[in-house]
Amino acid sequence: MESITHNLAAVLIQILCFNIFFYPLNIIFTIIFAFLSHFLSDAFSKLTYHTPEAMKNDKFWITWHIIIYTASIVTFIIFFLPFWLGMLFVNLPDIIDWFILRPIKNKKKRESPDAIIKKNYSMHQISDWIRIKILFWLPDLTYKKYGVITELIMIGFFSSLIYLFI
Ligand SMILES: [Zn+2]
Repeated sequence: MESITHNLAAVLIQILCFNIFFYPLNIIFTIIFAFLSHFLSDAFSKLTYHTPEAMKNDKFWITWHIIIYTASIVTFIIFFLPFWLGMLFVNLPDIIDWFILRPIKNKKKRESPDAIIKKNYSMHQISDWIRIKILFWLPDLTYKKYGVITELIMIGFFSSLIYLFI
């Protein structure tokens, strides 16, 4: 899932939690549900155009990424106040994997290139598990350009719910 989709889901979660629960449960549930929603959204990401590697020679890939990254930054700024809490926790699994676990793994590899690293510790194993065990029946659009439509539908769906609730 693209960052914008995660962020919109987090905004929605925070709105709902603050409408349903009282302090401090509203904060606690925002944190828990925003964090968990990351794995669920990522498990659904095979329904979207989401190539694991950068395709820098592909004009479509470049255009899509310019649009989606710009939109992600804009949404982040628009919703930062007061939705920074939900947005922080929805992005936490990516932050942990990319900025903490991956550098540790790379450092280990550099130090002992021959050692086989037995366990591949990463938070995204949770999304992989959901995808393989529960959502295995979904079509795989990872490399299909029309997969951007699914992402756009999700963005539209979350945005309209936010618009309704705000
Ligand atoms: Zn992720």
